[in-house]
Amino acid sequence: MLNVPPQAFPAPSSQQRAAAGGRAKVPLKPGRSLMDWIRLTKSGKDMTGLKGRLIEVTEDELAKHNKKEDCWICIRGFVYNVTPYMEYHPGGEDELMKAAGTDGTDLFDQVHRWVNYESMLKECLVGRMAVKPIAAPKEITSVSEEKKQLNGMLPEKKVLGASSKDLTPSYDWFQTDNLITIVIYTKQKGMNAELVILDCENKRLRGEIIVDDYSYLLEVDLDHAVQEDMAVNIAEKVGKVEIILKKKDNVHWKILGQPLENHNTFMKRTDRGLFYRKCKLVSKTEVTHDTKLFCLLLPESTHLHVPTGQHVYLKQIIAGTEVVKPYTPVLPFLPLDFQEPSCHDSAHLYLMIKIYSCGLFTQALDRLQIGDYISVSSPEGSFKKSQVQTSEDLFLLAAGTGFTPMVKLLNFALTEVSCLRTVKLIFFNRTEDDILWRNQLEQLALKDERFEVQFILSQPVRDWVGKQGMISPSLLSEFVKRSRKDSKVLICICGPTPFTEQGVQYLKDLGYSQEEVHPFTA
Ligand code: FAD
Ligand code: NAP
Repeated sequence: MLNVPPQAFPAPSSQQRAAAGGRAKVPLKPGRSLMDWIRLTKSGKDMTGLKGRLIEVTEDELAKHNKKEDCWICIRGFVYNVTPYMEYHPGGEDELMKAAGTDGTDLFDQVHRWVNYESMLKECLVGRMAVKPIAAPKEITSVSEEKKQLNGMLPEKKVLGASSKDLTPSYDWFQTDNLITIVIYTKQKGMNAELVILDCENKRLRGEIIVDDYSYLLEVDLDHAVQEDMAVNIAEKVGKVEIILKKKDNVHWKILGQPLENHNTFMKRTDRGLFYRKCKLVSKTEVTHDTKLFCLLLPESTHLHVPTGQHVYLKQIIAGTEVVKPYTPVLPFLPLDFQEPSCHDSAHLYLMIKIYSCGLFTQALDRLQIGDYISVSSPEGSFKKSQVQTSEDLFLLAAGTGFTPMVKLLNFALTEVSCLRTVKLIFFNRTEDDILWRNQLEQLALKDERFEVQFILSQPVRDWVGKQGMISPSLLSEFVKRSRKDSKVLICICGPTPFTEQGVQYLKDLGYSQEEVHPFTA
């Protein structure tokens, strides 16, 4: 049984309450935290009113359950009675009621596709939607065709969305005595390592290629075992990706392997489920009194680079329920050339995480021991490096751990973008002790004259001589100024949701266009 602390912190008026998890906007009543929900689901209470029976639900039946006290919602074909969950929903009852008595899949995907509702709502499952008697769509035929063994021929692809057709990648494979080479023709110029995600575990090979908003997947149960280390070669200009696997035994492979469920599919990234691999915790170092830098080691047979401005999801089983939270990988340190770049490699992921004294996920994370494993998803996020590449002034507005996306962004901006004239970080924290990497930031400002950092404290203690306050129009008009009248500017903003939302509004009021402002959200 897990020792989960009671929900006394933070104070009901705290911003963290209103903003926790990035999306939550509605303060929950005491005793209505995620942990309380998990406890209730384990209590044996009949959550559906059906005494554990699962039923087939017609559309008419679903539509009848559209009130707070009797609310059913369908997500991906499964119907849940969410009435018992209402008071525990971080987004509030009204958000849930938007989908009452209907198919809420799209709404759910828009807001938090990553939340593991199957695990969170498993005790609320009423049953499946009844299948309407219609002819099977053609796509199903092509999928069952794919179930045939892969013999080197290119099987049919499942292509979703007419506009994606021209971009559909294809693959081929060949072998030598020792090697298996799979070639994916992405038809995408500017293909790079960040767009190729590979995992191979127990003969299961999964290769995902990102093509704009689409994802191409190669997913096979390999014919024979391969060694852990594999190589990836990318011909950027022609968009060819080569995956080179080393055979464990020198046998001739008749086929590449058996196709798995989503093999050779090309679909919107947002329609693809999150994929997780287990990473080993190799170190945990203190950054401030409540924030730690976790270093995770990716498996040897994983090829994954988290792009600048993107986040991953971590998954842990807490009291028998899968809980997922997003985190933004940072670098082991800022780009200061006197630092050793030895562990600055693609095998490690660095996460700067604030441990909340009553936080469900971060408390469990803090209990992990060196050598323990944790599930890490593939990256997600809407930020594009090209937004910075054309800018002359870059302003970064960060609050608390909202600093995390700014780390890689700073590194990229200062080391790779030559047209930038000014890079300014305006960093909001409660007290001096809360400032993350203050020393490194000050060193960076001394080292690179384009970079300036301004710390603003909302609750300063001791003799703080710096700026004091909260994000406001007057602070922004003082600190966010184009270096020239017509400078191309990018302003990135990240922190508690209300901080980000207010900041975006103030910047709009100050005359900055939507294209000039990038808010980081889930
Ligand atoms: P929670 O259990 O969610 O709670 C945090 C605190 O708030 C607790 O004290 C809890 O009691 C209280 N609380 C939470 N919700 C409510 C509520 N509705 N009503 C009342 N009280 C509440 N964090 C980082 O530290 N580093 C990162 O790099 C990072 N990256 C992120 C990237 C994205 C895209 C997003 C959206 C968030 C990111 N976060 C990051 C935040 C992170 O995902 C978690 O929200 C955070 O770690 C808190 O998780 P927790 O489960 O420990 O806390
Ligand atoms: P925090 O310490 O609670 O707050 C940092 C600073 O922001 C403090 O000065 C605080 O002032 C101020 N602040 C908080 N809420 C505000 C509001 N509504 N309006 C104006 N100022 C506000 O921050 P934290 O605990 O580190 O939390 C960081 C947040 O960033 C989390 O919510 C996390 O989810 C989010 N985050 C998001 C991403 C992403 O990519 N989307 C990445 C990383 C982190 P006071 O407390 O004094 O009011």
